[in-house]
Amino acid sequence: MDIRQRDCRSVRHARAGAEVGIKTSKGRFLGSALWSPSSKIRARRYSWNEEPFDAAFVSRRLEEALARRRGYADPARDSMRVAFAEADGLPGLIVDRFVGQDERGRPGSWVSAQLLARGIDSRRELVFEAISSALSPDGIMERSDSPVRALEGLQASSGVVAGAVPERIAIRENGLSFSVRMGSGQKTGWFLDQRENRAAAAAYADGRRVLDAFCNAGGFALAATARGAAETVAVDSSPGAIASLQENAALNGLEGRIRAVEANAFDWLRDAEASGERFGLVVLDPPAFAKNKASLDGAVRGYKEINLRAMKLLEQGGVLATFSCSFWLSRERFLSALDEAAADAGVTLRFLEERGQALDHPVVSGYAESRYLKGFIAEVRRRR
Ligand code: SAH
Repeated sequence: MDIRQRDCRSVRHARAGAEVGIKTSKGRFLGSALWSPSSKIRARRYSWNEEPFDAAFVSRRLEEALARRRGYADPARDSMRVAFAEADGLPGLIVDRFVGQDERGRPGSWVSAQLLARGIDSRRELVFEAISSALSPDGIMERSDSPVRALEGLQASSGVVAGAVPERIAIRENGLSFSVRMGSGQKTGWFLDQRENRAAAAAYADGRRVLDAFCNAGGFALAATARGAAETVAVDSSPGAIASLQENAALNGLEGRIRAVEANAFDWLRDAEASGERFGLVVLDPPAFAKNKASLDGAVRGYKEINLRAMKLLEQGGVLATFSCSFWLSRERFLSALDEAAADAGVTLRFLEERGQALDHPVVSGYAESRYLKGFIAEVRRRR
């Protein structure tokens, strides 16, 4: 539970980052929280009990989170998000654990952590200590460079905070190798939340020409190519993403089958339509166009535009795998943008699958923000 500014009736002498008790106006205890006076989210609950937020608490939460994930993943082999902030009872803390090999082929595990709220940031030393004791990684990289930190009055902070972290590590996902740059890749270095969706979309790739728009390091492009795509085109506007995609293609011997294009996807999609390109599978996995409520209307136009163009690029009976990772764009609004795009493109969508985020990014009741990734896989047919 997060307590918003408007919900706070009285607060006595709490300093930024302090542990505070939350009570209803009638005095009923609602749990312990961390206090962030300069944020709109004033208090983030970390426990239903009265207890300190110390290294032992954080270790326990991490161990519990890891134990839950053992139900569907193997920490000895699988890279995973071990802590998904409030959804794992650790407000403002993201912990991604990568299992793989360093540049010399030595096996190991490394952690990429993001501290995104005042309370967790003011306990950074004990947080890193707890990560070390619960997960025993070979090194911890802090990647607290997200703009959301500014909303908490915090500066960006990145770097190795424990042990050693190689420039690149090689992880395995869906039977493929990927090079992860924990220090310079986007977010924590790798988008773990799309792991299952990459495999799901790739199942439609066989024999088809595939477009992976907003490809980043090529998770969808490689999965589709390995599953028999006739040819794959992968587009991203970031030079670093394109370099990672090319490195990953080579790592798997797929470089001759993937064309990497550094371009603005909006422009590229428009030009591809004008030049009559056709694809059998199009994946759209853009960044969150809506970063907050205020930017939602513009974002919806963006989602509609790329989906409309993708529909026009698809051959008869082709497949669209389309995603939105913006919490602010509801499932319903996303669907209505897809409906409008289909109407304008003159196509009918037959929904084959509805997708969400990978299981290690749990969705929990009482914390709506935990359900953020929406995805649909649909067959696209021009109306006749
Ligand atoms: N599909 C990727 C994750 C995509 S993240 C995966 O499976 O891992 C979103 C990507 O969109 C980022 O790599 C970012 O560089 C890229 N991006 C953002 N704006 C873009 C634009 N206008 N055109 C092309 N790429 C863009």
